[in-house]
Amino acid sequence: MLKNKYDVVVVGGGPAGSMAAWEAAKGGVSVCMLEKDRDIGYPVRCGEAVGESGLRQFVEIEDSWIAEKITSVKLVSPNLTSVDIDFAAETGYILNRRIFDYDLSRYAANAGAEVYTKAYVKNVLTNNGQTNGVVLDYLGEEKQIQAKIVIGADGLTSRVGRWAGLRTLVRMKDMESAVQYSVSNVDIEPNKMIMYIGMNHAPGGYIWVFPKGKKFANIGIGISGKYSKHKSAQKYLDEFMDREYPDAAILTTMCGGVPCAKPMEKPVANGIMLVGDAAHQINPMTGGGIVAGMKGGWIAGQVAAEAIQNDDYSEKGLLEYPKRMRKDFGKNHERFYKIKEATEKLTSEELDSIAEKVLSIPHDKRTLTSVFKAAVFKKPTLIIDVLKVFAGV
Ligand SMILES: Cc1cc2nc3c(=O)[nH]c(=O)nc-3n(C[C@H](O)[C@H](O)[C@H](O)COP(=O)(O)OP(=O)(O)OC[C@H]3O[C@@H](n4cnc5c(N)ncnc54)[C@H](O)[C@@H]3O)c2cc1C
Repeated sequence: MLKNKYDVVVVGGGPAGSMAAWEAAKGGVSVCMLEKDRDIGYPVRCGEAVGESGLRQFVEIEDSWIAEKITSVKLVSPNLTSVDIDFAAETGYILNRRIFDYDLSRYAANAGAEVYTKAYVKNVLTNNGQTNGVVLDYLGEEKQIQAKIVIGADGLTSRVGRWAGLRTLVRMKDMESAVQYSVSNVDIEPNKMIMYIGMNHAPGGYIWVFPKGKKFANIGIGISGKYSKHKSAQKYLDEFMDREYPDAAILTTMCGGVPCAKPMEKPVANGIMLVGDAAHQINPMTGGGIVAGMKGGWIAGQVAAEAIQNDDYSEKGLLEYPKRMRKDFGKNHERFYKIKEATEKLTSEELDSIAEKVLSIPHDKRTLTSVFKAAVFKKPTLIIDVLKVFAGV
């Protein structure tokens, strides 16, 4: 039964929210996770691609989560030159997020967190500048819950952060507008993801084809908000589908935003923390946010439990969370952002000539490093941009 007081209330039951609830519950404090939808994990708004090593940091990987194992990538340049690269060390997966997200919430529940669905949070409670609970509609009734800490894991459109006065805005150029179809009746190679890059395919982003079983795939596009005024992401994708997969049956259509920005510097205030998309914890180069959000939730859940034990939920105390995040992956995040900016400057001609150069490398010698070397060979100034990244300039 939903109570009116918990140590920690987590708003949102995505991967970031479940990890936060799980870790906080493991830390021995009382936790409740509130999800507005009827089911955890549904509807799915995601291409569902993850790296194995990323996931393994947190969980044993279950077979039921895996729709397809990915062992190579085909990169397609603006003039349709395609380059196949086998993954050397890493394996990728296309998940069944419906099952994956659901299981993460079960792990949180099994550790002691209470989980409620159809629980729509519509505001936060505050007292003297300290967030201390939430107001929600639960099964048709308005309720208030007091909490020492509220964790906003309510995704890209996070309102929890705004209600608490945090700066959550993403610049237009860093906001990718995304559309994805889950399609059947497509001839695709299993175990290989395909990515189309270049202004003509997807300005400021890419088109992805992620195999998800026999003749089935997630096919989507993300383009920078800077370009979506002139031509919508859906129009780019529809033209692509007509050209490449005219016989595809579209079984699911979804639209969404992906914040390919720098992570929020201060995702905390008195009594409140933001995690996952709500805190812009996404790899800005790839738009991948599952593992990054899990990491945010994982660290925030631990810090929340410690804060409760220490009886300090002030902003100053909770700043330990972004501090640990920066130590863990913050620098990489900033680097990826700068590399994204540097590679965005490559023209279509430069991308085509890089693809040609990589094709001259024997298949078994092609790695992501050799692609990078080819890129630098064709556009030496790229090394300056990338050196700047690693020098932290
Ligand atoms: C088209 C597209 C493709 C993508 N592809 C990939 C990919 O291939 N790989 C990858 O790693 N990432 C991908 N991403 C990004 C990834 O989906 C997100 O980064 C990830 O889901 C973030 O997890 P989260 O827990 O922060 O938020 P979410 O998964 O968005 O979960 C937020 C939850 O909060 C709930 N909620 C919101 N408001 C309230 C409220 N007021 N009260 C209660 N509950 C609320 C929502 O219902 C939702 O369940 C993609 C995104 C898009 C849009």
